Amino acid sequence: MTKSANLGFPRIGAHRELKKALEAYWKGETTAAALLATGTELRARHWQLQQQAGIDIIPSNDFSFYDHVLDTTAMLGAIPPRFAGIEDPLARYFAMARGTADAPAMEMTKWFDTNYHYIVPELHEGQNFRLSTSKVLDEYREAKALGIDTRPVLVGPVTWLSLGKAKQDGFDPLTLLDAVLPVYAELLAALKAEGAGWVQIDEPILALDLTEAQRAALRQAYHALHASAPSIMLTTYFGALLDNTALAVDLPVAGLHVDLVRAPEQLVPLLKVLPADKVLSIGLIDGRNIWRADLDRQLALATRAWDSVGPDRLVIAPSCSLLHSPVDLDGETELDDELRSWLAFARQKLSEIAALTLGIQRGRGAARDAFDASAAAIRSHRQSPRIHQPEVKARTRTSIDLNRGNAFPTRRTAQRQRFNLPAFPTTTIGSFPQTAAIREQRAAFKKARIAEADYETFLEAETEKAIRIQERIGLDVLVHGEFERNDMVEYFGEQLDGFAFTRNGWVQSYGSRFVKPPVIYGDVSRPAPMTVRWSAYAASLTDRPMKGMLTGPVTILQWSFVRVDQPRAETCRQIALAIRDEVLDLEAAGIGMIQIDEPALREGLPLRRRDWEAYLRWAVDCFRITASGVADQTQIHTHMCYAEFNDIMPAIAEMDADVISIETSRSDMELLRAFLDFRYPNEIGPGVWDIHSPRVPGQDEMELLLRKAAEGIAADQLWVNPDCGLKTRGWPEVESALTNLVATARSLRGEK
Ligand code: GLN
Ligand code: ZN
Repeated sequence: MTKSANLGFPRIGAHRELKKALEAYWKGETTAAALLATGTELRARHWQLQQQAGIDIIPSNDFSFYDHVLDTTAMLGAIPPRFAGIEDPLARYFAMARGTADAPAMEMTKWFDTNYHYIVPELHEGQNFRLSTSKVLDEYREAKALGIDTRPVLVGPVTWLSLGKAKQDGFDPLTLLDAVLPVYAELLAALKAEGAGWVQIDEPILALDLTEAQRAALRQAYHALHASAPSIMLTTYFGALLDNTALAVDLPVAGLHVDLVRAPEQLVPLLKVLPADKVLSIGLIDGRNIWRADLDRQLALATRAWDSVGPDRLVIAPSCSLLHSPVDLDGETELDDELRSWLAFARQKLSEIAALTLGIQRGRGAARDAFDASAAAIRSHRQSPRIHQPEVKARTRTSIDLNRGNAFPTRRTAQRQRFNLPAFPTTTIGSFPQTAAIREQRAAFKKARIAEADYETFLEAETEKAIRIQERIGLDVLVHGEFERNDMVEYFGEQLDGFAFTRNGWVQSYGSRFVKPPVIYGDVSRPAPMTVRWSAYAASLTDRPMKGMLTGPVTILQWSFVRVDQPRAETCRQIALAIRDEVLDLEAAGIGMIQIDEPALREGLPLRRRDWEAYLRWAVDCFRITASGVADQTQIHTHMCYAEFNDIMPAIAEMDADVISIETSRSDMELLRAFLDFRYPNEIGPGVWDIHSPRVPGQDEMELLLRKAAEGIAADQLWVNPDCGLKTRGWPEVESALTNLVATARSLRGEK
């Protein structure tokens, strides 16, 4: 009979219990025992909740106190030497994730194209591995004691190695496969001895472009592992198998899971080549987004699979782990009923999986209520006037000139005449410290404990203070400080039509950090100017140029839950038009420089190279829509951080911002290389201060970095600025570092 499965459940708890327990423990306010007890309680609750929802195959070892990749690293005993001296395993685990006074934390980076960050394994030649934790077995037993026979989840060996980072140049981590496999084999045999019938092994790299070495490693791994293991459900997600299909279906595993939300089109070709003895798990409920599923459509897809593989070899599942979904829609008491009827969080997704499974087993009528409710929601979403704004749709179809009035050289002359800046102009990226006082005032205002006028007076005073400090330090181009903003996306989302905000829609970003992405549910438009009031006020206080500060359309899109009833490119274009209006209003208010931040442009890159070009085309066009309406003498800035610029190089130049600021200090200007190699023509500010650390860099250090940049970039192209915004820093460090930064620029100009 067809079964329902889950691939992973959010760890946090409906009331962010895990976050609170972790942070209390880290502060020393509670004991390790209390933290462990919270973990036990959450796991039990989540297993039971899945069981009650009617899920047949329930995962274990999907829980983590920090990150499942770090759990795997600990399991394999791959402890970097700088942490080896820490005796207590829990203390060592958190030290690896967060660092200690004398050992910097392991790096973290984004998990595929999600906003979840994993801890990067550190790998070196000759590394030894041994089974070093009992977490997987413990959690399997723990669930069993509650009467639930789970399917443990593991990060597969080839994905784990592929995500790792070689500690020496030229070393290929995949060469460690021989050393890693015995540990997996030992663990799998132990699980089997313990009674586990199945194990879920995640190899999401199967959705990427693979090297021959990775393919060979996958073959070697599963030939080595399958004999002594429980039945293996090899799990892929986040994209189609494409050219890895033949490889995946030939691996000696009992089952294969594929993501049919991201890639429904892969089902039919897959069915043609799927061996007759394999179980097929189909991911039909979106683990990455918050929309209620169209159950009838998904049932049709499931039926297509059922016709081919029959009832006993089919499993109905979410597309990927529900880790990337918020926990429970029932907590969203402030959303109106209509909007709520369009959404499903992790708990609701479990019910959708159960309903689909019933539907395939016994026909739609067996879960009629769920199917009817889904159909009603889909219908109301399709027709609702809150979603469809004819004027907005019409406007996205009008053609917009994507070019500025003149090419950069002409604009540059006009801008130089207007601003008359010194060589190596100094500026910052936008935000200044969000102090406790500012956060308190904002919270008080949100709870209506202080009046709007008082809140604004307070913000004006903060803005003025920041301007005076910038003037005193001697920066050339000032910013207003972004004190009125909680977050660079939420702030705009709250003022745009088509956005909604949840109360508890938290998803894990890393460790105990969770984000609450806005929901873009309808056509986006801008009912009124959003930032003009603050920029104009700030500009009125000083004679120096004041940069207006906006978040770009791609970043707003990337950091939100986006509607799926139209292409992302279309939604992005709507946002771009709204930002364009804001840019033009800022210009009309006399703001001569406008920065449109796109830190998320790089992370929006699709997983497969063949899709990059199409993405970059619309992403760049959207940026150009925002900027192309201004006069030559208005200077457009953009800013990007966390990026490997090589991947997006011609695209960055095509954005044609007059000035771009980028994060480069941590890489010792290495990241600037892409701009050198490309002979990037416009102006550029390579960050000379790593703002992620509380350390204040000295003038000598910044000067070294800037001189390095000046070796390849013409002096008259260079700006001097930090890596990113300063909102997480304290004022004393900001003042000293910016003082050094201005001194650096003066020294390069040959002033004293
Ligand atoms: N202007 C934003 C700030 O300064 C940019 C933040 C970012 O790039 N992530 O905070
Ligand atoms: Zn940044």
